[in-house]
Amino acid sequence: MPSPIAHSIIGYLLSRLPTAKKALPGKWMSLTPIAAAYGVLVSNLPDLDFIPQIITGFRFHRGPSHSFLAAVLVSTLLTSIIYRFYRRTHYTSLLTSTLGVYCTHLLMDLFTSGGTGLPLLWPLSDRTFRAPFVLFPPVHHSRGLIDISHFTFISIELLYAVTLFLVAGVIKSHWQRQTRRRDVSSPQ
Ligand SMILES: [Zn+2]
Repeated sequence: MPSPIAHSIIGYLLSRLPTAKKALPGKWMSLTPIAAAYGVLVSNLPDLDFIPQIITGFRFHRGPSHSFLAAVLVSTLLTSIIYRFYRRTHYTSLLTSTLGVYCTHLLMDLFTSGGTGLPLLWPLSDRTFRAPFVLFPPVHHSRGLIDISHFTFISIELLYAVTLFLVAGVIKSHWQRQTRRRDVSSPQ
């Protein structure tokens, strides 16, 4: 799997999309740090399956939490909890944004070297899936926090982050230019 670095970057960038901003309207909910924290949290949720693995010793990682069913259930649960306490939430927008961020985690894991693949159709099928080519190198958790092999994935993921931020910056400035042009040309 990619490390939390890569997942968090995607979660952050998706939280900056207009649809995600529409999901949590209001003064404090629309603040970037809160939307960003939510995006980063959801983007890393599937990998919390390492906690029961540590506690029980049984293999959980890349298990049911990496399936479409988990994506739908977790997204619906999170959206419903937020909607329950914050009625100004745009339910559909938040649900689709959350689902999108969760599924992006699965998509990134599909393109990662190592492991046996993802049980996307669990519990209907035990078949595991992986992409035909690799975009991310594996993270060797068993080698501890500090190991020379980590240099490879950290370098690649930082390169990936810089590329994504550059692309996002270009798209954003393009949108802003288009909006300004529309505002100027529209009749008063
Ligand atoms: Zn994962």
